[in-house]
Amino acid sequence: MFEIAGMRFSQRVFLALSIVSLAALLGACVHSSPPDPGGSKSWVVENVASKSTAELYADVIKPGVFERSSSKVIDGYTVESGNLRMPDKSLGSLVTVRSADGRLTALVERTGLRGLLVINKQGEKTFTPDRASVNLRNDVEVNAAEERKLPNSRSQTKDSVIVDMLIGYSRSAVTSVGGDATSHALALVESANLALRQSLVTSVSLKLVGVQIVEQNYPITGDVLDNLQNVFSEGVRAFGPDMLYAVFSGHPDDVSAGLAYMPGRLAMSLPEAWMFRHEIGHNAGGLHCPSEPGAPVPYGHGYNNGKSNTAQCGEEGVYYSTPAVIDQFGLPKGDAATADMARVWRENAERLSSYYSVAAPTNFKKTGSTLTKVTFGWSPSSEAVRYDMYRTVLSGTEVVKIAETTNLTHTVSDTSGKTIYYVKAVNAIGKESNLSNGASR
Ligand SMILES: [Zn+2]
Repeated sequence: MFEIAGMRFSQRVFLALSIVSLAALLGACVHSSPPDPGGSKSWVVENVASKSTAELYADVIKPGVFERSSSKVIDGYTVESGNLRMPDKSLGSLVTVRSADGRLTALVERTGLRGLLVINKQGEKTFTPDRASVNLRNDVEVNAAEERKLPNSRSQTKDSVIVDMLIGYSRSAVTSVGGDATSHALALVESANLALRQSLVTSVSLKLVGVQIVEQNYPITGDVLDNLQNVFSEGVRAFGPDMLYAVFSGHPDDVSAGLAYMPGRLAMSLPEAWMFRHEIGHNAGGLHCPSEPGAPVPYGHGYNNGKSNTAQCGEEGVYYSTPAVIDQFGLPKGDAATADMARVWRENAERLSSYYSVAAPTNFKKTGSTLTKVTFGWSPSSEAVRYDMYRTVLSGTEVVKIAETTNLTHTVSDTSGKTIYYVKAVNAIGKESNLSNGASR
């Protein structure tokens, strides 16, 4: 864990396991009363650190059943997410972020209730419903320069792309989400990852690489969007994110509740999770419902099938549009010709993940050998603090990491001549370059 000048560095996922199970909803007794959808409510949980996470959120998901689909520990925070299966067969969602000292930040989205649950170390529990009547129709800046960079060979072959994200907050936005920006940022990112998984986009995930807090609360305007990298310049320098998202708390000059480049890497909004999923959908290259013209690709729209809907066209449920998913009414959540945001995400993953990249080492080659050993050398990469050696495995094109070094040469034991070796540069914040060219004995 690394904190500096209001920024926090979240680099490694120490444990990542995906499970599909019903959470044990133990008979929770939290000495509290559940909130109404009406307004923000506070109450107190006793001995919060001793309570299980399931006990803490039990009353806000009732009568839903949590079907957890992911559980990870990220920098000491346990981040979990999954569906809420409701008695009326509708699907909601739950994202929980639990810190080591017992605090909980949770995003609850279910029929009739959508909002942010925060329980602090003292057990003070607050539920803040999402703003009900907000529309995000004029929230796009068409980004012509970026649009020219959109892939024209529709490649979906990459098996796993990670998009690094910095989330910036104004101080007042941090207060409005309960005081812990990192927990909230982890929850937002997980909420988008849940939407991607639910929409069968398995090749792309977002990763929070940093959080920066600025004192000023900026308005949501085109000028601020254009200037966003300067507002959060310290975080951009420190964390090298691919995407930058800003969370503000509302301002009299706001032109919308959110704003994003379409396509691009910059977006911002009020703190609600559905706005986050919506705006980064614009970054990916989608617009709104199919009835609204102007999307970069004909299938770049959200979808409303009349019974259920998705991000960017209705916003109910944690989904991006895709014809591959059938809802509880037997209706598809997208249309191949007009509403396939899952495809847009897959096709744009490479672009989104390469806004910031570390240069790969060049000129990788064999520099010496004996009967049993081979030495490779390479030209340095400007940002590298370390180099990681890789080699192919017997079965084919898959590569495995075999060593780390700070030198510009590395010697391996090898007599076969069939194994191909590569090197990657790693910079000070742990970002890796692509593989260098390959070389063998
Ligand atoms: Zn929009």
